[in-house]
Amino acid sequence: MYDVAVNRQGMALCPFHNDRHPSLYLADDHYYCYACGAYGDVIDFAANFFGLTLYEAAQRLVADFGIDTDRPPTKAILEKCRQKTQAQQLMENERLCFLVLSDCARVLRDWKVRYGAGHTG
Ligand SMILES: [Zn+2]
Repeated sequence: MYDVAVNRQGMALCPFHNDRHPSLYLADDHYYCYACGAYGDVIDFAANFFGLTLYEAAQRLVADFGIDTDRPPTKAILEKCRQKTQAQQLMENERLCFLVLSDCARVLRDWKVRYGAGHTG
């Protein structure tokens, strides 16, 4: 869209330095230049590319890509928001571990009462 050709490996010529071999890696949510270290998200990219402030860059992206700020977000964006963050996932795992362990503890206490007390006497 902005005249940055991306090859099959997701690499492009970096517009932020005099790049002769593609050094700019373009991911879905950020970019990174292995040569000059330029890094950021899509708004940073537009801001640096056009020499705009972040706010102006966001407005430009809204205009250029026909994003209607009054319309609800698309399904793809909602899908992304619904994905759990790593921290949330860790917390969930921790909760699950705790449940399993407390269940084990309950069983062991039960065994202790049932078999332990009589044998040791
Ligand atoms: Zn660069």
